[in-house]
Amino acid sequence: MHSSALARPGPAGPPARSEGKPLELRVDRERCIGAGMCALIAPEVFDQDDSDGRVRLLDPAPPAPQHSTAREAAHSCPAAAISLLDR
Ligand code: SF4
Repeated sequence: MHSSALARPGPAGPPARSEGKPLELRVDRERCIGAGMCALIAPEVFDQDDSDGRVRLLDPAPPAPQHSTAREAAHSCPAAAISLLDR
């Protein structure tokens, strides 16, 4: 990628993460029942382990465009195995 492609107009500020608050995710594999809702809703962030079907967290700090689906996945988890840490 050319560095010029990253240049954006606007006020100076922290790059990349300046859109909205950072979002951190945690998963509790002990609670996970392998229902797979998270991987269906947010496949960029969650996957299921091939061996036991439990959640695999692909990106514990997803970029802003994935926040809404990551939140939806957390709220849809039937085992409440996904935690959201807003900072
Ligand atoms: S939605 Fe919840 S129970 Fe289902 S795989 Fe994801 S973390 Fe596990």
